[in-house]
Amino acid sequence: MKILVINAGSSSLKFQLYSMENEAVLAKGKVERIGMDSAIASFEPDGKPEIREVSEILEHTSAIRKVLDMLVHKQYGVLGSIQDIDAVGHRVVHGGESFSGSVLVDEDVKREIKRLFDLAPLHNPAHMLGIHAVEANMPEVPQVVVFDTAFHQTMPPQSYLYPIPMVLYKKHKIRRYGFHGTSHAYVSERAAMLLQRPLQELKLISCHIGNGASCTAVMNGKSYDTSMGMTPLEGLMMGTRSGDIDPAIVPYAMGKEDLTLGEVNSMLNKHSGLMAISGISSDMREILESMEAGDKNAALAFEMYEYRLRKYIGAYAAAMNGLDAIVFTAGVGENSPALRKAVCTNLTFLGVELDEQANAARSPEDRRISTERSRVQVLVIPTNEELVIARDTHQLILNRLNVV
Ligand code: ADP
Repeated sequence: MKILVINAGSSSLKFQLYSMENEAVLAKGKVERIGMDSAIASFEPDGKPEIREVSEILEHTSAIRKVLDMLVHKQYGVLGSIQDIDAVGHRVVHGGESFSGSVLVDEDVKREIKRLFDLAPLHNPAHMLGIHAVEANMPEVPQVVVFDTAFHQTMPPQSYLYPIPMVLYKKHKIRRYGFHGTSHAYVSERAAMLLQRPLQELKLISCHIGNGASCTAVMNGKSYDTSMGMTPLEGLMMGTRSGDIDPAIVPYAMGKEDLTLGEVNSMLNKHSGLMAISGISSDMREILESMEAGDKNAALAFEMYEYRLRKYIGAYAAAMNGLDAIVFTAGVGENSPALRKAVCTNLTFLGVELDEQANAARSPEDRRISTERSRVQVLVIPTNEELVIARDTHQLILNRLNVV
């Protein structure tokens, strides 16, 4: 079975084509600058060089058409025909309280995703464009949606409610939803395999540290608490997002700096975090380089970033009353020995003992970076959200075939 995985943003669209017999990626790529006359489509057939084309792509339907054209291209394509695609799986950021797992797309599901536009105005409308674009190009092909929030629907009320008037939850569904769920679920399962223990008896803290960052307390295989909240702004300090701040700062800063709501929202989402403190970059690689060159602001940004992550790890160890392993994943988590070392060096009270050599080694594999003696294991597990989307899509299509 061949499954096309799509992550549609407002002006870009990433894709991967899977062959599910061996879970191989046949091709991947993206279309960027959708809406412009110089949109860039890139295509990477497995094991072959990347192809890049610049053309006018004004909306998502044309972007999907472009992806399909590339997949069946005579010279570099990987499919004989578009009919070879059995299903399409989409990443959808917000599933609200309605979705605790992946589902086949039908009119009710589309209506529900639309209803959630308010909660994820930057993401869900773009995903919907992706779903409609697939429908327009391949009306017969079943589609599945996989939600970033779904894994976190197991959180208990003490984790997901905010201590504000209940009417806001009851009327407007203001609560913690959490994000990166697909990644936290995937790395938790891999962690159990690496530890050779059943996931159902483990207490894990999964740290997904990329441009966006969140950490999750995973108890007995379920999300118990997570650092992102109603939106992906809460929690850890990130590349350009502030993470936790005193909410009273918002009206105060608005008054003092004469900011509109839109401006303060943009400040906290796009002009805060590593970028704001370092004054250099939101990219951890540049922060580390500047630190090494002696830049004090970069050093402060790194220190705050690490400190805030470590505080969450401490909090979640207390929340679960114990901890078996800490898992690092995503761009920074997988690739920065410096961050992992800074965090772990200050967690000796929990029984964390880092194996410095294993931490410094580069590898694309799942691996342990704590010593044999360490009471809490530390793991690095490369995430693979696309694979989870492909697997869920595959499973739902198989279920449907069995039912029919
Ligand atoms: P996204 O949240 O956009 O999916 P990623 O998970 O790909 O992001 O993470 C991207 C971030 O990973 C970059 O901003 C960069 O800071 C960080 N990163 C990538 N490679 C390294 C590295 N070798 N060392 C430190 N940080 C890295």
